[in-house]
Amino acid sequence: MTVDWNPVTPEEWVTGVKSWPWKPHRFDNGKIWYWKKDGNCPRCHHYMWKDVGGGWASAMTLETAMATPETNEGVKSTVNVACNCTQTHTHRPDNKQGCGPATRVPGPHPSDAAKAAKDKPGALP
Ligand SMILES: [Zn+2]
Ligand SMILES: [Zn+2]
Repeated sequence: MTVDWNPVTPEEWVTGVKSWPWKPHRFDNGKIWYWKKDGNCPRCHHYMWKDVGGGWASAMTLETAMATPETNEGVKSTVNVACNCTQTHTHRPDNKQGCGPATRVPGPHPSDAAKAAKDKPGALP
């Protein structure tokens, strides 16, 4: 049983998605390629994710991000995140993905690189 598509965004959904950390993914040359936030959708429990790249987010090396965690230069304050699970939810419009909820959350920040390293030492991609 899966839930029907519903564009109403529950407050717990927002809280859940906000709590997922932004994790940096990088190229072989050390530059950050994109940042990813992922987990199981708090509403439908399917895997969902958000990637953010481009601009400052992929111009910086991981080392720079970790060395200058307080910089705000070029950082986008918020990004839109929506459930984008690949499962089917009934009543979903053809041009939509996921189970419906969406919100704006704080975007990735250089300080997230240090947090990711602290959570999983040695496990950065
Ligand atoms: Zn789903
Ligand atoms: Zn969902």
